[in-house]
Amino acid sequence: VKIAVVGGGQLGRMLGLAGIPLGCSFRFLDPDPGCPAAAVGETVAGRFDDADALARLVAGCDLATYEFENVPAATAEFLAGRLPTRPGPRSLAIAQDRVAEKRFFAECGVPVQAFAAIDAAGDLDAAAGAVGFPALLKTRRMGYDGKGQRRVGNLAEARAAFADLGGVPCILEAFVPFVREASVIVTRSPRGMATYGPIENEHVGGILRQSRTRDEPFALAAVGHARAIAERLEHVGTLAVEFFVLGDGPDAAVIANEMAPRVHNSGHGTIEGAVTSQFENHLRAIAGLPLGDPAPRGAYGMVNLLGVEPPAEALLALRGVHLHRYGKSPRAGRKLGHATIVAAHDAELDLRLAELRRLVEAARPEAMARPG
Ligand code: AMP
Repeated sequence: VKIAVVGGGQLGRMLGLAGIPLGCSFRFLDPDPGCPAAAVGETVAGRFDDADALARLVAGCDLATYEFENVPAATAEFLAGRLPTRPGPRSLAIAQDRVAEKRFFAECGVPVQAFAAIDAAGDLDAAAGAVGFPALLKTRRMGYDGKGQRRVGNLAEARAAFADLGGVPCILEAFVPFVREASVIVTRSPRGMATYGPIENEHVGGILRQSRTRDEPFALAAVGHARAIAERLEHVGTLAVEFFVLGDGPDAAVIANEMAPRVHNSGHGTIEGAVTSQFENHLRAIAGLPLGDPAPRGAYGMVNLLGVEPPAEALLALRGVHLHRYGKSPRAGRKLGHATIVAAHDAELDLRLAELRRLVEAARPEAMARPG
């Protein structure tokens, strides 16, 4: 099968790497002809709303999918009018709007923090009463990696933040004093579901730094929530649900923060860590093939290489490390690659991840000092 993919970033590249052994071929739409996915398929250079580029993207393809969720609605419609497009428009529409997403989670019986929609400054008064402070004001649409959001401690700050965010539709959410963040990844097809995780995530400045599996008492609940969301969406493909974890040990509880209707950074460890990766299962799902076993081969984790890549020599000298480079030029904070580790159990993974982290962090100050 030939698959048209909207977006040619590292997620597209890893879809390609997973699909080639299955006999899939790929064409990617991306504004940058030298995008990371260019190494694994044809590219069409163009904007995501460019009608000519979209026509070239789909010509001769059998299926369409995407590697990011902010695909314009008109683009999704165009694709769906020409090719089987998976996941479907409902997964996209809900994931693109933080208010719709939280309402949908609640409909699925999944716990969410207190929230209120803010369409105009006048809505803030009532919202503050319902949500309380501290809170986060986030734009309803187009936010990612912590962009488009402000922490606010009172009504005056909320008003200032609303103006600062451009007066666009927002959501006011209660600040959640979480002890950890975790995600569950699920691949759903009409033939079944495969789940990964929970995966524990560490963000710095809103950007994912490290992900690792861990056996958790809340695993059953979190996996159940992710499955309920995928099922109710009738999602076809891979989907990630991000949770906040409150409390520790047997008292730990989860609140769903957001979902991504696609393969996800927190699941990169599944490439070597699971019998079948999130990428391969996404392709199997959208192509109507049986899903592969998502079972872990051990405790697995990954560390993102942000802004700078430590020398491959040093990384690969660490036992069990696999390196994934995206072929991007370095820029502060940019995701340039990641390294994964599979270990026999959690304690061994702790040690090996700490080693890897030391190496990755040692590379950073030097890079920051380098001009350009
Ligand atoms: P998001 O764009 O919603 O994924 O937010 C990015 C990161 O900001 C999350 O991974 C959290 O670390 C933090 N964050 C977002 N929303 C909240 C919240 N309501 N309470 C506490 N921290 C939050």
